[in-house]
Amino acid sequence: MNKWLKILSLDIEYIDNVSFRRVLLISSISILTMLVFIFFLFVNLFVVQNYSVASLDFIAATISLRVLFVLKRDQNIPKAAKLATINLFLFFLTFIYINGSSHFSLIWTIFLPVFATLANGKKIGFYFAFVFYTLLFTLAFLNVGIWSEGKWQYIDLMRLIATSSILTFAMYMNEQALEESDKKLELVREREKKYITDLRNKAITDELTNMYNRRYFYDMIPKLTALAKRKQQYITFFILDIDYFKNYNDYYGHLKGDDALIEVAKLIKQHIQRDDDFVFRLGGEEFAGIIISDDKEKTHEHVMQLCNLIESQKIEHIESLVSEYITASIGIATVAPSKEYDLDKLYNFADQALYCAKNNGRNRSELSFRCA
Ligand code: GH3
Ligand code: MG
Ligand code: MG
Repeated sequence: MNKWLKILSLDIEYIDNVSFRRVLLISSISILTMLVFIFFLFVNLFVVQNYSVASLDFIAATISLRVLFVLKRDQNIPKAAKLATINLFLFFLTFIYINGSSHFSLIWTIFLPVFATLANGKKIGFYFAFVFYTLLFTLAFLNVGIWSEGKWQYIDLMRLIATSSILTFAMYMNEQALEESDKKLELVREREKKYITDLRNKAITDELTNMYNRRYFYDMIPKLTALAKRKQQYITFFILDIDYFKNYNDYYGHLKGDDALIEVAKLIKQHIQRDDDFVFRLGGEEFAGIIISDDKEKTHEHVMQLCNLIESQKIEHIESLVSEYITASIGIATVAPSKEYDLDKLYNFADQALYCAKNNGRNRSELSFRCA
């Protein structure tokens, strides 16, 4: 953000468009009016020697300072907006009253509906403007013929009413338009956010099984190993491969094969489901999982249960050479917290263990350190 904007918005954190617009307006106007009031305080004290206007300047400058405090310290934008508007409201009315509309001084009052609406929004802004003008017009009406050294007439009052009303209406409509466009922008942003989230989810999800895919696996591996390191825990990695799945596809057809993959994926997800656990479909009929834990024996036991669990689903597989049902083989590898986490090594160990499980007859799990 521009340096001056930062100073003028009191370096308040960016909240949303409307709030930022209001903060910037209220703070910059309060800083400006405070300086103007201080300037006129000195003019009225030492040059004009109009002490009543000088006291008015002093009070208004103090309130402007207070507005800045409410904005910066309490970050209460509605309160600051109301306080700043009331300040201008009372200042203008008292000033006009004291001044008797001399030297074109009524011109200052045009700021009220502008500021009130921009700082408070269209509704509260309109109320402020309405009450302000009711009081101002009454004051003006009562002083027709007296104000401006006798030059103030009804036609001037009519002109004041007409211009002020048009200005208030214009400000109201402007705020309405801004609100509408902000709403639309917010809607577009929400839609975009959702679109990006959906897209991201799609990119990391396997379409068939709804499991995380290989891409997410590569994303997560460094994060999970870092987590395991930080927590000083074991990281266990396993690869699960369905046995004789080519035969299954050949005999039952690809669609049935897909159903079986979905079923197995569901079982894996249900079984390995703690917060820090992650399971993936690496591709084909190959799945993987990462588990972080204190007790590696328990983790191994838990992963090994998957073999029984899958077979116990009794998904018929006539063409399997190891069972009547679909089965899977699992290779498991674990690294200790003290060891360096070499991801390629971990993957290779699990892969070797899987190979070992296949060689040893399938439908079983093997631990990498037992397969030399
Ligand atoms: P092994 O016990 O040694 O693992 O034998 P296998 O037949 O399971 O191993 P192989 O790697 O030879 O065959 C894997 C088969 O998985 C090949 C292919 O027909 C099947 N496959 C891979 N991806 C999909 C898929 O998305 N849907 C279906 N239905 N089948 C798939
Ligand atoms: Mg296989
Ligand atoms: Mg395979």
